[in-house]
Amino acid sequence: MVREISAGGVVVRPAAAGWQMAAIEPQKEPSGSAPAAKKQSRKVILALPKGLVDAGEKPQQTALREVFEETGLTAISITKLADIKYVYVRSWGDQQRVFKIVSFYLLRYQSGEIDKIAPAMRIEVRRALWIPLDEAVRKLAYRGERDAVRRAQEYLKSHPEI
Ligand code: ATP
Repeated sequence: MVREISAGGVVVRPAAAGWQMAAIEPQKEPSGSAPAAKKQSRKVILALPKGLVDAGEKPQQTALREVFEETGLTAISITKLADIKYVYVRSWGDQQRVFKIVSFYLLRYQSGEIDKIAPAMRIEVRRALWIPLDEAVRKLAYRGERDAVRRAQEYLKSHPEI
């Protein structure tokens, strides 16, 4: 089976009401779904920023690079959270099954304005937004990403100095 290795981030920042987390709304429709006939009926999919690890790149560097490209934020790496795994079928070309591993890191927001991204990135990202961290598990579309967020919550609870 074809393999893909990606890396991404759970970017957090403190706010008056608690931690916030950076999420993205990917541009594409989820696989298997019919094309959205009516715009208002489109289900909003929220996901974590991530992308393929380039040759010679360390996954942690990929996470920081992809977070910047997809959200407009710079961040500092705190710890690794999880490696998540899933299989999907490519919707293009020869419909190959892909086994994918994505490493997620806990990142602390440093600078930048969310969703201020290069116009070319709109092919991938409909928008990037801050959401309350304690709503992320409910709002994220994919189980593996929800697990990574749970680990982030546990880490932040046990490391209040961050
Ligand atoms: P990358 O962001 O790593 O460059 P991509 O945008 O090419 O990758 P994915 O985000 O892996 O590709 O999406 C490919 C397919 O897998 C889509 O159908 C998507 O809905 C699905 N998918 C994405 N993330 C997950 C996940 N965590 N669990 C299960 N399926 C997922």
